[in-house]
Amino acid sequence: MVVQSMTNTDTADAQATADQVFALADAGSELVRITVNSPEAAAAVAEIRQRLDDRGCDVPLVGDFHFNGDRLLREFPACARALAKYRINPGNVGKGAKGDDKFAFMIRTAVEHDKPVRIGVNWGSLDAALASRMMDANSRLAAPLPAEQVMREALIVSALESAEKAIELGLSPDRILLSCKVSHVQDLISVYRDLARRCDFPLHLGLTEAGMGTKGVVASSAALAVLLQEGIGDTIRISLTPAPGESRTREVVVAQELLQTMGLRSFTPLVTACPGCGRTTSTLFQELAERIQTYLRAQMPVWRLQYPGVEEMKVAVMGCVVNGPGESKLADIGISLPGTGEVPVAPVYIDGQKDVTLKGDDIAEAFTRIVDQYVASRFGEGGSRRAAAPAAKTIPIRQV
Ligand code: SF4
Repeated sequence: MVVQSMTNTDTADAQATADQVFALADAGSELVRITVNSPEAAAAVAEIRQRLDDRGCDVPLVGDFHFNGDRLLREFPACARALAKYRINPGNVGKGAKGDDKFAFMIRTAVEHDKPVRIGVNWGSLDAALASRMMDANSRLAAPLPAEQVMREALIVSALESAEKAIELGLSPDRILLSCKVSHVQDLISVYRDLARRCDFPLHLGLTEAGMGTKGVVASSAALAVLLQEGIGDTIRISLTPAPGESRTREVVVAQELLQTMGLRSFTPLVTACPGCGRTTSTLFQELAERIQTYLRAQMPVWRLQYPGVEEMKVAVMGCVVNGPGESKLADIGISLPGTGEVPVAPVYIDGQKDVTLKGDDIAEAFTRIVDQYVASRFGEGGSRRAAAPAAKTIPIRQV
């Protein structure tokens, strides 16, 4: 299951786009999609790739083409080479024979450069001719299906027919991924269940236009969790609308946390923290939980290389004696802070055993130091929890 993200910079601005791709990759994105929408953008793609290579960042770039992809790929062969994958939206290629020619050119370019293609259908840009053909056929039935059901079927048919065309044009089936994105949870689940049943192509999952803030996170998680639990999906993206000034990397964090909390992949040590209640005397445990989670995530670009296996570490930050010691013992390393009326001390548990008791004003700093020491001793060279050194980062070719 590969985590993907997408930039929101102007691709023509090679430096800004390379910087954002780098930030997304640094946060853990394993594929980054960039829009290629103009000659200026297409001209910048090779430079973006070079800038990333110069910084030691090998994250594959996916080019997102709509309307004029054939022209851009024809006029900018360096762009065609620099991209690791092309995303083609059959609804935005063009109409009739002209559209067929444009689609064929893009597929033949992918074949020529040995690139995989994601055929990415979207509810908001569904092939209008196909949709109207299917709606007309439905209206002639004795018992017509609801329009929403016909539209869901049209999404799937668009993806499958385009994949068939691509194969006829010479693209190997193992170089094709499909996606059929919609913006409502139940529609997405229904479409992807059906799509997975009807083809063997790897599928890219995502709730399109998921929205802002908690709504975007909850809607994406609700939809994708059902599908992931059923074994559906090979790459995922969480399409969040960032709040003004918010980092684009949040969509990567959400995708990782979705996969990790479901037990499908591990990316970064996660903190178990209680919600707090009337037994907590202060915001100390909230601040500590936030501080530790932020600290752990910030360390990961270095830790994932230095301390293989550290992403599996479990940390607990608890608010009082009711569940604090128990939850802390279940974690690799946990701290139980004092609640109302409790002695103002914070026992720290390591591998299920009480190790040390902290008190005073610098509990947060002291606990952070203990976490550092634990990570180095357990996941460092010769450590008892160290995982086998990771192989060079490779992504299955069919998913690239
Ligand atoms: S662990 Fe203590 S402070 Fe936290 S929610 Fe439970 S009772 Fe409340």
